Amino acid sequence: MSGGNLYRRFEQVFAAHAERCAIRSADGSLQLTFGDLGRGASRYANALATLGVGPGDRVSVQVEKSIANVLLYLAVMKAGAVYQPLNTAYTAAEVTHFVEDAQPKLIVCDPARQVEMRTLADRCGVFAVVNLGAHGEGSLAALAASMDDRHETAERAADDLAGLLYTSGTTGRSKGAMITHGNLASNAETLVDLWRITGADTLLHALPIFHVHGLYVALNTAFLSAASMVWFDRFDAQAMIAAMPQATLMMGVPTFYTRLLSEKGFTREAARGMRLFISGSAPLLAETHRAFAALTGHAILERYGMTETGMITSNPYDGARVPGTVGFPLPGVSVRIQGNQPGVLEVKGPNVFKGYWRMPEKTREEFTADHYFITGDVGTIADDARVTIVGRARDLIITGGFNVYPKEIEDVLDTLPGIGESAVIGVPHPDFGEGVVAVVTASGPLAPEAEIIATLSQTLAKFKVPKRILVEAELPRNAMGKVQKAELRRRYAATFG
Ligand code: AMP
Repeated sequence: MSGGNLYRRFEQVFAAHAERCAIRSADGSLQLTFGDLGRGASRYANALATLGVGPGDRVSVQVEKSIANVLLYLAVMKAGAVYQPLNTAYTAAEVTHFVEDAQPKLIVCDPARQVEMRTLADRCGVFAVVNLGAHGEGSLAALAASMDDRHETAERAADDLAGLLYTSGTTGRSKGAMITHGNLASNAETLVDLWRITGADTLLHALPIFHVHGLYVALNTAFLSAASMVWFDRFDAQAMIAAMPQATLMMGVPTFYTRLLSEKGFTREAARGMRLFISGSAPLLAETHRAFAALTGHAILERYGMTETGMITSNPYDGARVPGTVGFPLPGVSVRIQGNQPGVLEVKGPNVFKGYWRMPEKTREEFTADHYFITGDVGTIADDARVTIVGRARDLIITGGFNVYPKEIEDVLDTLPGIGESAVIGVPHPDFGEGVVAVVTASGPLAPEAEIIATLSQTLAKFKVPKRILVEAELPRNAMGKVQKAELRRRYAATFG
């Protein structure tokens, strides 16, 4: 059982590997050893103390991705405070909701937003606002630079909060998921073990760090295992390919993989030294998995998780990484479906969050009586326990009383010539309640709508066949590459009206 402040575990690793490179920027402009990480985290933690931040206080952070941001993340944990990252795309109006809800002691923002955030902070009763820029500049960086590089790590229990991560929910109010030190420690330990991450690894880090994937999955596993990182402020396929010969490990969203595949410079040779490619946060098309394997010889390892639970399942390191599936429940994690399959996946284990911040009612609703978290993802569990995700429960379409799982139709659409990507949604229909509509992008010449519908009718039951095939230049996606179906439903609400 891993107890206490997770930073204590990191601290031991940093001390044991003090002289080794922990993180270097892809452009070579900055390089930190593990010793530097520890000292930097201490300076930032002392700065936080000066700003009045103590154990249990929330620190809201909306800054561009940078290595300084990593020091801040570590410092908040070291100080026993609660890290609350915010997507850099959120406007001041959106940030207001999170700040009102989280009631942080401190807001850390981009230097360009200092004035705007100070006004917001005054309205919401927040004590301090400091800033941190994309190149490690800003008032917080200056304060940290003037601080002592020793700091006593705060005592925390495994059940104390380390993070407050707001769900990227596209419907209703975004909820703050309370993540404990114990949640993070158990999940990171399991993943290090399962994916065999060691100090010999170099991770290509190109994910945002305001989200569970880039923040917890990538950083915490690297810190626990003393793996080093090549740091990208944002995903850039060419820069990634250039850095690949010096790396062994990559964690990405499916879009990273499709973008790599469309780069001419991406060859088997470029990926030769890599040990493992991992994908998650959104479904990886089986077609992408196969194309990647054909080009590089690597079977991408797909895993499944969410903000509230960290990682839940993973394809195996040894054994078949089956395209279109998300693998097996992690050791110590149980996943079940009550009733018929496909059904809603429920999960229980040390990875599952403590509940929604200041929403006891909502928390109760999302757990079963025997304490399983109801994920809202619809899937199947095979006899050998392998899990396949079919979609979100709220994306389920009910047309004329029949259930339609969008993924089944998307899978068929994606095999048709000329179709790049597809998203199948239900929109109001006067006869059927909901009518099935497919929104597609073109990767080449597309057959006329009626012809596509006729082709689909050969393989799909009539009630599943989309009544309309609508073409968009691009599917709307969020920062993690998830297709925003709620946005598509809004856009096409009047299709049959
Ligand atoms: P988030 O809380 O932003 O990490 O989103 C979590 C959601 O992303 C899950 O509930 C799933 O719907 C989806 N997701 C994550 N990983 C996968 C995956 N490998 N395949 C399909 N959906 C996924």
